[in-house]
Parts: sequence; structure tokens; C-alpha cells
Amino acid sequence: MVYCEWGKVMKYDCEHPWAPDCCDHPRSCHRPNFTKVLDHGYVELIEHWGSDERIIESARMSTNKGFEGWDKDSKLLAYLWKNKHHTPFEMAGMTIEVQAPIFVFREWHRHRTQSYNELSARYTEMPNLYYLPSGARVRAGKQSTKNKQGSQEGFTDVEGGDIILDLRASYADSRDVYEALLAKGVARELARLVLPVAQYSRMRASANLRNWLQFLTLRMDEHAQWEIRQYANVVGELVKDKFPRTWGLFIE
Ligand SMILES: Cc1cc2nc3c(=O)[nH]c(=O)nc-3n(C[C@H](O)[C@H](O)[C@H](O)COP(=O)(O)OP(=O)(O)OC[C@H]3O[C@@H](n4cnc5c(N)ncnc54)[C@H](O)[C@@H]3O)c2cc1C
Repeated sequence: MVYCEWGKVMKYDCEHPWAPDCCDHPRSCHRPNFTKVLDHGYVELIEHWGSDERIIESARMSTNKGFEGWDKDSKLLAYLWKNKHHTPFEMAGMTIEVQAPIFVFREWHRHRTQSYNELSARYTEMPNLYYLPSGARVRAGKQSTKNKQGSQEGFTDVEGGDIILDLRASYADSRDVYEALLAKGVARELARLVLPVAQYSRMRASANLRNWLQFLTLRMDEHAQWEIRQYANVVGELVKDKFPRTWGLFIE
């Protein structure tokens, strides 16, 4: 048996792009900037640029004073944020890689101020990975009576188990037809018509810090669907790590 550096049994090679869950540890040992989300998804920081200090420097263009130390400049950062002088926050940013179900990407791609590159299902066969909600998520997944977009508690354990079996059967059917179409020589761009929105896909997303914070305002909020919120929470942790002072002001 092969063990990873977290002491967990490795199920398969972490380097494989479709294999984030190589072990049971939430972070992959080979990709330290990588955090698992949902059952087969992840968020990985590719790079970030700028810093809280750079935001101050950019704001000081008129006086040419630059960054003068946090004793003095924490007040300026707070002033910029609170008074919506947001352009200095565009001088920093992050690029991340995300693996998520297609329905999460449908919501994510509404954020037009991010730049995206997603894998093409015309170009490559889609992975045999589908989002299967946990028992707890399904039990809390009854149509809300108060919020037309939302869900609420209400299914028993037995009902939840049946729903999971229904989902599993439907994904297996779709996959069988997809693979049968590919085997017949149908082009990937047509065979994909049978794939469900639970299908996992992968993309890079890049934005400046101002727009990441706009994304987090909307997608960490409890009105956002639970699944995209799980991704947003990880993005929030990355912002907190790389831009701690701005994060502090954001969550105030
Ligand atoms: C809980 C929730 C429910 C939602 N429900 C629905 C729904 O039912 N149907 C639906 O279609 N969408 C829905 N959305 C998506 C929502 O309408 C936005 O498209 C999405 O949240 C992106 O927000 P944004 O436009 O602020 O982001 P971005 O596109 O990243 O834009 C950021 C900011 O840039 C500015 N901006 C960007 N583009 C323009 C432009 N063309 N003109 C002027 N200003 C611009 C705006 O100030 C904007 O706030 C929902 C979102 C949430 C969070």
C-alpha cells in the first residue's frame, strides 16, 4: 500500500487532473494550494498578485508617498474600503482552478468580471464524475415553501436514501448512453447532449480582488445555493490568506 504524506492510504495518483480525492485528507499532499470541495471538486490557487500594501501604494499615486507602515496606513485602507474607493483593490487579484458540477459553473459564469477558460467537452471525453449530494444535503433538499429558489429540511432517512438511488441510476444511464454514443463514433460535441448538469467540469477563473469580493458578497451569502457557497467559502479562505487586512474590512 502507498501512503501519502498525511499518512492516508493513496487510492490513486494525485497528479491526475480528475483525481482530487486521492486520499481522505482535505488537502492533496502533492498540490499544497488545493482544497477539496463537494465529493469530487476542488479549488486550487494558481497564483495571486499584489497585496494589502500594494493597494495602499496605488491609492497614494497623487502624493507619491508609497506604503508608510500599517500603524499609519491601516486607517487609509479602511477609509478606501468604507468609502467605496474601490479602484486600488483592482491592483491585486488571484487566478484559481476549479473543478465543480456544471450547474455550479452556470451560476459562477454569471460573474462577468472574471475571466474564464473551461475544458471543452467537444475536445475531450468528460470524466465519469457526477455530483452526488450527501444524505444530509438531500434530507434538507425539499422544495422550500417560503423561498421559490430554496430548499428546506423535510425528507426522512428512507426518503433521502431513495432519492440518492434515483440520482445514481439516472447518472449511470446517462453515462452508459454517452459512452455508447462515443463507441459508435458519434462526435464528442453531440454525445455530450445526454450529460446531466451534475457532470463535473474544470476551469480556471481569474479576477481582480475587487471583483472576487463582489463574487464572495453574493455567493457566500445564505441566499446562494449551498453547493456554490462551499466553493465561495474556499475562495474566501484564499483571500483571507493573501489579503488579510482587506479581508478583515470585508467581513466587518
Ligand atoms: C441568490 C442569487 C440568485 C440569483 N438568481 C438569478 C436568477 O433567477 N436568474 C438570473 O438570470 N440570475 C440570477 N442570479 C445571478 C445574478 O443576477 C448576477 O448575474 C450574478 O450574481 C452576477 O452578479 P454581478 O452582475 O454583480 O457580477 P459581475 O458580472 O461580475 O459584475 C460585477 C459588477 O460589475 C458591474 N457590471 C458588470 N457588467 C455590467 C453591465 N453589463 N452593465 C452594468 N454594470 C455591469 C456591476 O456593478 C456588477 O455588480 C442570482 C444570483 C444570486 C446570488
